[in-house]
Amino acid sequence: MPKSVTKFNDSWLHREDDNKNPVKIWLTIGSKPTTFRCSLCRTNDLDCGNQGWRAVQQHLNNFKHQQIFQEWQKNVKFIIPTQVTTSSTDTSNSTAINIIIQCVCLYMYKDLNLSHIRGKTIGDYARQVLRAIFSHEELLSSILPPGGQQFIRKPLDSGRFEFLHNTMRVKYRISADRYDEFSGKLVRSKLVDFLADERKRDRKSTSTQSSISLSGS
Ligand SMILES: [Zn+2]
Repeated sequence: MPKSVTKFNDSWLHREDDNKNPVKIWLTIGSKPTTFRCSLCRTNDLDCGNQGWRAVQQHLNNFKHQQIFQEWQKNVKFIIPTQVTTSSTDTSNSTAINIIIQCVCLYMYKDLNLSHIRGKTIGDYARQVLRAIFSHEELLSSILPPGGQQFIRKPLDSGRFEFLHNTMRVKYRISADRYDEFSGKLVRSKLVDFLADERKRDRKSTSTQSSISLSGS
């Protein structure tokens, strides 16, 4: 006899965590009906076939998720409409609205909608986003996360760096399970170069400035 499995239930999207935050900020159905994903942690499919909602609760209570969520909350100033009214029978529409809310949330960094940033290429867009979420000084003095003890420079704040990942993933419509590959192949090396170039540019402009002030005196 086949074991009974619990499918992802759209009604879960209307639930809240213990702090009254709607789970639809991050919860989505996975690629199979018995799975779900967390768009903030960028998980692959997580199984809810055995445990149903309890599996989702387990995810929301896990330490890493809580950390990422708190970081997201600190940086986002976006009020989620508490009442998105849809007729309960029209699930396709409510799913669409959930997706829109989710995308908007992922795009928002403080008051800035990261999707409004224009980039000529994927690498260019990533550079512009980094410029928007980190200060010039931070970019000059840091390396890409995760960093490590062997490096002199500290990594950029990994919580804020998640905004880059999230917005890239949504903008270029990369599925969560392919994102790491996408980012590793197409983004990371460009950003490594970008940080190095920022330092070079800074050194250049400092030396130009000092020569101007020398010749002016
Ligand atoms: Zn999560």
